[in-house]
Amino acid sequence: MAARIIDGTEIAGRIRKEIAQGIEALRRESGVIPGLAVVLVGDNPASRSYVRNKNKAAREIGIYSEQHTLAESTSEVELLRLVDRLNKDSRIHGILIQLPLPHQIGEQKVINAILPDKDVDGFHPISLGRIMTGEKGFRPCTPLGIQKLLSCAGVKIAGSHVVVVGRSNIVGKPIANMLMQKEEDADATVTVCHSHSRDLPAITRQADILIAAIGRPEFITADMVREGAVVIDVGINRVVDPSHPKGQRVVGDVKFDEVCRKAGAITPVPGGVGPMTITMLLYNTLLSARGAAAAL
Ligand code: NDP
Repeated sequence: MAARIIDGTEIAGRIRKEIAQGIEALRRESGVIPGLAVVLVGDNPASRSYVRNKNKAAREIGIYSEQHTLAESTSEVELLRLVDRLNKDSRIHGILIQLPLPHQIGEQKVINAILPDKDVDGFHPISLGRIMTGEKGFRPCTPLGIQKLLSCAGVKIAGSHVVVVGRSNIVGKPIANMLMQKEEDADATVTVCHSHSRDLPAITRQADILIAAIGRPEFITADMVREGAVVIDVGINRVVDPSHPKGQRVVGDVKFDEVCRKAGAITPVPGGVGPMTITMLLYNTLLSARGAAAAL
């Protein structure tokens, strides 16, 4: 039987309506308008498009949003100076530095310079540490989007065996830590796999919930998936396709056509995790602004 499609666009749309209401309520009650600063260094076309989409989504929902575009040759000191200025700017509740940064700039150094209270991307070591200890704080947008997607789609996480393929700091490690916490929408038994995992298919076949964050087109095939499993495809890969008007198309890390005949539920690419990621950035910005309003 074909898997149920978990529609990220529809779920993200619903959550955005709630965020818009939250923004309006905050403005009414405290006069605070959530503010987001998005920083782009250089002219990587993919980064430019991500930044444009983030700004547009923020403005559409009622967030004050400003974009800072710096030259490819920007020095680390110059970028740190901008971060410092944004840290002190009371109109700004969230700072997002679009990655990757040019080679002359230390990414971690810049991330570490963001005030943890404005770390809406959730990449600061303090935010990541808070995931480990289960403290309140900003969760990175893609993992938070995955968790909300599972919850909104009615997938039971507690007690499930979640297998995460990928151990990056922005997806694999945080989602694994989030889903193993002793809290709502978590309490899973989590296994994390990577390129050194032995007999990967034997591990992925044990998953009730399989999360693929690998960065390899259509890597997860039907033989790697247990009948009825929930499959979350995080991958965004551009592959050449002469039959497509643009000569290329986007595919996930999961071979959708065959896995959807075996899984119980599956996220498509595009239209699955992607729309949730930007939505969680908006959510974190509102959360940050609420914190600032409470401190007034
Ligand atoms: P990284 O490249 O940072 O990490 C990839 C992970 O996959 C690594 O841990 C790597 O293992 C593992 N891996 C690679 N090859 C294999 C293999 N053959 N077997 C098992 N594991 C393997 O990627 P990201 O986490 O940043 O991103 C993953 C994907 O998600 C990408 O396609 C990216 O574009 C997409 N993405 C999508 C987002 C969204 O909004 N939808 C947001 C962020 C990312 P090892 O550690 O051993 O190298």
